[in-house]
Amino acid sequence: MIFSCDAFSSHEQVVFVSDPSTGLRAIIAVHSTALGPALGGCRILPYADEASALRDVLRLSRGMTYKAAAAGVPFGGGKAVVIVDSQTQKSPLLLRSLGRFIDRLGGRYITGEDVGTTTADMADIARSTSHVMGLPEEQGGSGDPSPRTALGCFVGIQASVDHVWGKHDLRGVRVLVQGLGNVGFNLCGLLDEAGASLLVSDVKRDAVQRCVEMFGATPVGPDAVIDAPADIYAPCALGGVINDRTIERLKVKIVAGGANNQLESPHHGAALRARKILYAPDYVINAGGMIQLAMERLRCDPEETGRRVRDIAETLAKVFRMADAQGLATNVAADRLVESRLKPEAAQAASA
Ligand code: NAD
Repeated sequence: MIFSCDAFSSHEQVVFVSDPSTGLRAIIAVHSTALGPALGGCRILPYADEASALRDVLRLSRGMTYKAAAAGVPFGGGKAVVIVDSQTQKSPLLLRSLGRFIDRLGGRYITGEDVGTTTADMADIARSTSHVMGLPEEQGGSGDPSPRTALGCFVGIQASVDHVWGKHDLRGVRVLVQGLGNVGFNLCGLLDEAGASLLVSDVKRDAVQRCVEMFGATPVGPDAVIDAPADIYAPCALGGVINDRTIERLKVKIVAGGANNQLESPHHGAALRARKILYAPDYVINAGGMIQLAMERLRCDPEETGRRVRDIAETLAKVFRMADAQGLATNVAADRLVESRLKPEAAQAASA
């Protein structure tokens, strides 16, 4: 059952591809090309079964449509998943084969990095298609998107502070960053520079230690994050952290971070609102990396890319105002803003 499954959500096209000579088994999902070619990374994972892979690719490609529309870039949403173990079964030949299938879509889908793929993998895919972004810098790509994702989160935190406390200044504001990887670590650097007071948490001790030494951050154990007193909680590790078990315990006024799918379910946005905790919708605040890839495709210069990433602050401010004016949870307001941009007449005007 595909058309009737929840995640299908009016996808334009779903392609199942296989190449026994390289072991390739993949699904490419194009959710929407209403605003432009579908943009979205390629995830390589040894999914437990095909149904999980299908659900994942459909959910992720729809998410990319929303992320691109919210960011105002002229792209739609898509995604590819390859059902192999990236550690043992990924090979340059498999990636080239995937590139050939992507090429046959004629530019309706443009791939990039995701879990299980690297910039070097994108270079392999690029041997058989030009519909790929995120190439290494030495091959004309824009490199690691994480610093731009962190920049988007940083300006999104500023917009959230402005909305709650009517100020832009982060000096002395206590920000708890959970997950100190590519996004979280870069975000800590920007927050530290702005004078915020950092609390940091990661399951990796060395990642915590690095932030303690570099930024004078206060460590918080992985199990103590939800109960820790702070002004802002910035989830930058896992999804699903805002749920029935955590919302009542939160001691912050703002949730604003880079992780995908922070709400376990959409109704948790309303539960945060009921507790007067401002939530910066994940796909709006964490779009910086996607914007970088979109700008790479459009051959924009780094300054223009930086400007577009900083526009995340204004988009969030708009979402917050809309949520207040209409009495909505911020995630619902963001969805409505995006859906208005995806309506056929609005999409036509945007692509004209
Ligand atoms: P990463 O793998 O570099 O870092 C994740 C970090 O979280 C790791 O250091 C890991 O040890 C830590 N972690 C895992 N479980 C944890 C736990 N229970 N408590 C505390 N820390 C934990 O990943 P990343 O690229 O920094 O991405 C972080 C999040 O942001 C992910 O949800 C990702 O989907 C999302 N995201 C990333 C980008 C990007 O440009 N990298 C863009 C959009 C969204």
